[in-house]
Amino acid sequence: MSIIDTPATDTAVIPGPATPYQGDIARYWNNEARPVNLRLGDVDGLYHHHYGIGAVDEAAIGDPADSEREKKVISELHRLESAQADVLLDHLGDIPADGTLLDAGCGRGGSMVMAHQRFGCKVEGLTLSSKQADFGNNRAGELGIGDFVRSRVCNMLDMPFENGTIAGSWNNESSMYVDLHDLFAEHSRVLAVGGRYVTITGCWNPKYGQPSKWVSQINAHFECNIHSRREYLRAMADNRLVPQAVIDLTPDTLPYWELRATSSLVTGIEEAFINSYKDGSFQYVLIAADRV
Ligand code: SAH
Repeated sequence: MSIIDTPATDTAVIPGPATPYQGDIARYWNNEARPVNLRLGDVDGLYHHHYGIGAVDEAAIGDPADSEREKKVISELHRLESAQADVLLDHLGDIPADGTLLDAGCGRGGSMVMAHQRFGCKVEGLTLSSKQADFGNNRAGELGIGDFVRSRVCNMLDMPFENGTIAGSWNNESSMYVDLHDLFAEHSRVLAVGGRYVTITGCWNPKYGQPSKWVSQINAHFECNIHSRREYLRAMADNRLVPQAVIDLTPDTLPYWELRATSSLVTGIEEAFINSYKDGSFQYVLIAADRV
């Protein structure tokens, strides 16, 4: 018997976005087909819409004259993106196979597949984009894990789960599209007491003062609203989420960006990330918190 009652192809949960802004974001992701995301996913079938962390394996990418270099760079960028998702999953702690995980803002579902492969449990994903949900469900079907991994079109500020039914939840680069108090109130509602919440996100650094021009450029590029580190911690504290780890991943993500900037897949936003990480105005952080 399937542990997910509804067929995995049943993707449409909400008839439309809750706000005009969410309509913009749904359109953005429905139209998104950047080669940097698709060609990296093609490497092993895990499709990510997030960035990478860890040291670049120089031996694996070869020298610039190598005719295969571009392909090797793509594989290496993809390896670093999967390493990022692994670090996020590490911070969920132990999840029993009969628990349910939640990926809020799940994209094409790469992290969900990895989570199921690691824990053997059911993983529910929410995205505003029907194209992404269909993509994720098709991919899960191809892998034969459609009974465990399901994406739905749904607003993560209004989740289709009963109170306290989720063992662990995360936002992987998806929290900059929503108000953090609304978001954490909803995670807190659906998480079981003692459950773990994890986010990996870019945030502006209060030590810098205000969002720098690079941060503003990133916001404009992705139609998002990057929050500060302070806002994350305040909104968690206000919503029964107690930080268990706050890790600055900025030094770990810079090599990824520097490698990406040399590839043919540049999107034009690389300079803003590299400059803001270097001038201290922007940070790449992981925050893991316990639902108390
Ligand atoms: N976490 C994924 C995708 C990140 S891209 C990954 O790591 O690959 C950002 C995602 O956030 C998109 O899938 C977008 O649809 C989703 N998103 C943004 N606002 C949302 C909302 N209010 N409800 C649900 N998903 C949302």
